[in-house]
Order: sequence, then structure tokens, then C-alpha cells
Amino acid sequence: ERIISTEADIQDVTFEQSLRPQNLNQYIGQNKVKENLKVFIEAAKMRQETLDHVLLYGPPGLGKTTLATIIANEMGVNIRTTAGPAIERPGDLAAILTSLEPGDVLFVDEIHRLPRTIEEVLYPAMEDFCIDIVIGKGPTARSVRLDLPPFTLVGATTRAGSISAPLRDRFGVLARLEYYSEEQLTDIVIRTADILETKIDPHAANEIARRSRGTPRIANRLLRRVRDFAQVRSNGDIELKLATYALELLQIDRLGLDHIDHKLLKGIIERFRGGPVGLETIAASIGEESQTIEDVYEPYLLQIGYLQRTPRGRVVTEAVYRHFHMEVPTE
Ligand code: ADP
Repeated sequence: ERIISTEADIQDVTFEQSLRPQNLNQYIGQNKVKENLKVFIEAAKMRQETLDHVLLYGPPGLGKTTLATIIANEMGVNIRTTAGPAIERPGDLAAILTSLEPGDVLFVDEIHRLPRTIEEVLYPAMEDFCIDIVIGKGPTARSVRLDLPPFTLVGATTRAGSISAPLRDRFGVLARLEYYSEEQLTDIVIRTADILETKIDPHAANEIARRSRGTPRIANRLLRRVRDFAQVRSNGDIELKLATYALELLQIDRLGLDHIDHKLLKGIIERFRGGPVGLETIAASIGEESQTIEDVYEPYLLQIGYLQRTPRGRVVTEAVYRHFHMEVPTE
């Protein structure tokens, strides 16, 4: 398991639960999204209506689940949570929808993985707050329309492109979450340390933030590991020197890259003269699935401009040579 994996692992689950900001003011960064949501929430409350359906998209660990919970809190309603792959039959969805209280938030994580047949049940539910369910089988089967309480669907996806157009069009609010800046992540680390009742030097917080790949989930996880070092090797307080030492031992470099990123980037330089090289070829040469490279390894490397996608394949940029103290090729 990579320590910088953006997926929540088992240890993260309860830990993250205790760290989740509860309202918009505690939610750091994503200012544009926050400002918009504030207005929409306030307007809906003034009109005593439910909030429009919201689609949140962006890489894992940036705070989509957190934001869904905050939306429910700010609206003063309950939240029901499920995920695309968990809903297998139309009846599963019908059971959830009919059990909602008026105004509730239904959060569907990984909404791009909803089966198409389920998506079709969702359309009238989102649009008119009703569902058509089929009762019986064969010639006696008939369709019955059920009214639902008005609700807000909050969908989350890491791949906005994988959502069908009819589903996307039924969301009133589309919000794209961005990678966080170093300053924002520093604030998040300081906030988390405060909740954990751990003393942290702001420079140490900044050092953790810088290596967190723009992602709060990683920042919190690195902080937890560094805190372990502080406990065992020191008096429990997190100083810059200790943080740097711990992060080096964890093999997270100054940009948040780990040994797998190094293997990938150096592989392209050493075996393919920096590219362009096709994804499949890279995958075969370092013994990884191309899908994993594309979904997990690449996004951050593309984001920081270390890797570029060209029609002829992947290319590493000059910055990578400098990062590894290698000579930049001239031709
Ligand atoms: P996602 O659903 O996008 O994968 P989560 O909402 O589960 O991400 O966020 C992961 C963790 O990061 C949460 O436990 C939360 O504590 C923290 N986090 C995310 N966004 C923020 C934020 N804007 N401010 C403070 N903490 C955040």
C-alpha cells in the first residue's frame, strides 16, 4: 500500500470521520465552490425549498464526501450515504428513496458506476420526485407510480467524463473540486493537529503540506505517521527537523513523490530517452497495469507538469531531470 494512495484505507475511515469539518466555515479552500454553495443553500432555505441536486467531481481525497455532509448540515437535514456499485437492482434504489424524509440529502459516491437501468429510475426521481416501479411479472405486470419526498441528490465522481449526459443534465449545481494549495494544506494540517491535540510547528506543518500532493487525505495521513515518530523518537511535539526526518524515512520526497513515481519517471528517462512513449509500453516496462498508471500514478504528475500527454505518448518534462539532478538532454 502506498502511503500517498488517495483512496481511503481501513485506518483512514474512523480517523477521517473525527476530522471532518462540519460546516462551510470549517471547510478550508475550494473558495469558489464554497461561495456558490453558500448562496444556493441560503436561497433554498429562504424559499423553504430543497436544495437543487449537486454533482461534485474531482480526484479522490479532495473532500467530496465531506462537502456532502456539510451540505446536509447547513440545510439542517439528514444525509443518507450510498455508492454507485452498491445499488444493483432498481428495488435497492426504490427502498432508499422511499425511506427519505422531506428535504434529506442522498449522497451517492462513485455515481458514474451506477448501472444504466438504475440511472433510468433516478431520472424521474430527480426531476419530479416520483418513481415508476413494476409490480408482478409477465402478462399481469403493471407499472405503479410512487410519489417521493422531495430530496437533494448529491453525486460524487472522480470522472466527470464517465457520467452520461442525461444524468449530468439533471444536476442543477456542478462543482469541480481542485487540488489544494500548499498554504491551504498547511491550514488543514494545523487544524488536524489541533483536533489530535498534538503541538506542531507551522514550518513542520508546511513541510507535510508540501509533500501531500494537493490532497487533504494524504496530508492527514502523513501527519498521523509523523506524529508516531514524534511520539516515539521525541517528546510528542512535531518540530520541523523531526517532520523532515520522518518524511525522509517514509520515502516521500520534497514534492510528495514516492518510489513508484520515481520508478515511473526514471523508467521513461532511462529506457525511452524521456519519451514520447505509449502508456502500454510504460506499463509493461515497469510491470504495472496501464489502467492503474492512468488513474492513480499519472494525475498528480500531469498536474505538477512533470509528465505530458502527447498524441505519440507520454513525455517527461525538463523539471523531472532537474528534480533528479540529471543533465537535461539538449536535442
Ligand atoms: P473524497 O470524498 O473527495 O474522497 P473526503 O471528503 O473523504 O474526500 O476527504 C478526505 C479527508 O480529508 C476528510 O476526512 C477530511 O477530514 C479531509 N478534508 C477534505 N477536504 C477538507 C477541507 N476542505 N478542509 C479540511 N479537511 C478536509
